[in-house]
Amino acid sequence: MVPMEIEAKYAILDEQTGTQLRATRRLAGFKVTPGRHLSLHDTYLDTATGDIRAAGLACRRRVANGRGLLTLKGLGSAQASVHTREETEIEAPEPFDPSPTTWPEGALRERVLSLIGDRPLIPQFTIDQDRLARKVREPKGPTVAELAIDTGHISYGGDSILFTELEIELAPGATPDVLAEILDALSGLPGLAAQPTSKFERGLAFAARVGKQALAEEQVCADDPFGVAVCKVLRPHFFRMQAHEAGTYAGTDPEELHDMRVAIRRMRTVLWIARPYLDMDALGPVTKGLRRAADILGAVRDMDVFRQKTEAYIADKGAKAADFVSLFAVWDAEYARRRNELLRYLGSRRYGRLKEALWTHLAPAAPANSPQGLPALDPSVRVDEVVPGIARQRLAALLEHGTGIGTGKLSLAGYHALRIDGKRLRYTLEVFRGVLGPEVGDAIEVLKKLQDASGDLQDAVVAVAHLEAVGSFGTWEPPRQPGSLWQSGPACGRGPDTPLPTGLRRYLRARKSEIKAFVAKAPATWQRFLDDHVPEQITTAAAALEAATLRGESIMLTLQDHKENAMAHNPTYVILMGPPASGKGTQAERLQELLALPHVASGDLFRYNLKNETPLGLRAKAYMDKGELVPDDITIAMVLDRLARPDCAKGALLDGFPRTLPQAAALDTALAEKGSGIDLVLNIKVPDDVLIERVTGRRLCRQCGASYHIKFASPQTEGVCDKCGGELYQRDDDTEPVARKRLEVYDNQTSPLIEYYASKGVLVAIDGDQSIDEVTAALRGAIEARL
Ligand code: ADP
Ligand code: ADP
Ligand code: ZN
Repeated sequence: MVPMEIEAKYAILDEQTGTQLRATRRLAGFKVTPGRHLSLHDTYLDTATGDIRAAGLACRRRVANGRGLLTLKGLGSAQASVHTREETEIEAPEPFDPSPTTWPEGALRERVLSLIGDRPLIPQFTIDQDRLARKVREPKGPTVAELAIDTGHISYGGDSILFTELEIELAPGATPDVLAEILDALSGLPGLAAQPTSKFERGLAFAARVGKQALAEEQVCADDPFGVAVCKVLRPHFFRMQAHEAGTYAGTDPEELHDMRVAIRRMRTVLWIARPYLDMDALGPVTKGLRRAADILGAVRDMDVFRQKTEAYIADKGAKAADFVSLFAVWDAEYARRRNELLRYLGSRRYGRLKEALWTHLAPAAPANSPQGLPALDPSVRVDEVVPGIARQRLAALLEHGTGIGTGKLSLAGYHALRIDGKRLRYTLEVFRGVLGPEVGDAIEVLKKLQDASGDLQDAVVAVAHLEAVGSFGTWEPPRQPGSLWQSGPACGRGPDTPLPTGLRRYLRARKSEIKAFVAKAPATWQRFLDDHVPEQITTAAAALEAATLRGESIMLTLQDHKENAMAHNPTYVILMGPPASGKGTQAERLQELLALPHVASGDLFRYNLKNETPLGLRAKAYMDKGELVPDDITIAMVLDRLARPDCAKGALLDGFPRTLPQAAALDTALAEKGSGIDLVLNIKVPDDVLIERVTGRRLCRQCGASYHIKFASPQTEGVCDKCGGELYQRDDDTEPVARKRLEVYDNQTSPLIEYYASKGVLVAIDGDQSIDEVTAALRGAIEARL
């Protein structure tokens, strides 16, 4: 039998925890010996083609206090902090000869030779560490485990990363419940974080990043399966997140937390961008965990930024420090609370589970350190097949939000959404730059500038909210702010009617005027962005990639390719028809990726106008409130105007339009002028009683418009959008009486369209009285059959 090694690993997050572990005399019911120091120098060996790695093994040469050892280890598996792997070890003669034929005869040598043949072994990377090895024993009995406290670094190509780590290895013969007991005793210690990756795995990944040859492996290639590409993209961020764990925990340098948060945010954004092509159910624990981590780190980061900016202001303006004492008292109290939460989180099983879930998907697979890939909906879909679509969609989303800037009608939430769109577009370009081509480099630079400006706006908005809360309530946040981490209770003595000190009032004004200045400058900034030809660059790069794919550099053409190829000449128009709440909006959102067409919903356009109090919105309101249709002339003009926008050049997915015969006729005429027409009408059928329940339970995101249901499609956090974090609300017209009216209007005015489109041969009926997924599948089926 191959000997198995069972050990638990933890990252030691702070000096104090390290000291405590070095000094501890007892653990659970066991005694811990003082131990001894070892200086360990490990070199990992493999062939240039990674044959050992490919067999799921690692070959290590170790020099420990002058003595040489050779070890062959299985890569094993990790469960939170507990690693299990096979291990064989022999003494290695000095001086060391990397040719296995010179090694002592035995199982290890035979195994290595059988794996590598006559290919030479070369050093991969080295790990140097100081180990304090302590034994854990029964009070009067045998040793049950070894406790190792390691400090050292992994080096490759002149670059290195540091680590401080605790390993607990079960002694041969000891039962696993002993380990459980020890881990239990350790669980009370804060500065420990479960470490699901071995040093070897980290070394490999590190070498992959640093080494030029190996780095190429991590670069996204046009023919990578999409899941593999995403895995390559995420992996460095995963390691970066862990690399900044200890610094975040220590808290002395705020940039450590910032870097850790950026790594987490990047992973979130990449998963978000990639989500239409990934099996997001399988990735649920990852996305949820990352979101939590991002929230907890973000809560502290926001306060760090606030403090830095405020102190810079005081220094810069020579403001009276005394005026800021009350503010900083509130800040201090809230900051301590948030940091505590962060520290608890870093040491929690929850965080351990997040890393474990991530690592399950990111761990390199045999052969040769190749990424195994994230679970994709269609494992055969390649990067070059989907990236053009993704890039276009991200661009369209940004342009869509951007159109509001010129009108001066964009709300602060709108700017926030714009910033997020900008970030998503920029990450898309960065991540797939190798595939889209170096031309997008300029676009990335311009987007960065745009983002910096809007980042400052975001900081100012947040700062004003806090300053106002401090002024009115004496607390960091206003009471019961949705989505806030703030719980309860004023943090300092300032009551609501104590006026703010002059210095603070001035500061509040300064931050408010930052917002005004941004908004005033926004149209010019946006115009500059457009003038820099970013949209053209991106569209051109996407089209070029597509053309290359179509020229046969790709063998598998997806529906997407066929469609986009066809659309270059002839736009596609698909109509989603169905009574109120039949699921048009929900489904449109899901079909958008398949169709790569902008979603044009007349109801959303009206609500957008209403929110921004445009004349059109104000006119429509009276009809909408009553559940009646808005007059045809207004509606037709609004929708045709929308269809004339550049992002609709390839067509559109229409939702809620047309709703009357005159609207349908006007649409036909407008499309015919462009030599085009309706390609497909999907009629979603749902019984009336089901519709009433759907209407009354519907909730929408104020920010991105995503549709939820309190019973059938509830968000992860009540009242908060899963997709963008926006606030959920109920439409004014989603009450039962208005909904009944809307159903009646539908029967009278819209159902005649069914006949109209049926006679043109473009109508397909879909049973909408099924689960959301089933309806999506039915719609996909119809689209794939008809387009
Ligand atoms: P639903 O959930 O009923 O599908 P929508 O969001 O599509 O609702 O529409 C909301 C309201 O906007 C309608 O009740 C109507 O007043 C107005 N509206 C939307 N689309 C049209 C249209 N094509 N013609 C006239 N009015 C419309
Ligand atoms: P529409 O755009 O047609 O007015 P929505 O897409 O907004 O409809 O859906 C109406 C409500 O019903 C939403 O709350 C949505 O979450 C929910 N819903 C949509 N499709 C289904 C379904 N197949 N089963 C259950 N609830 C659904
Ligand atoms: Zn949203």
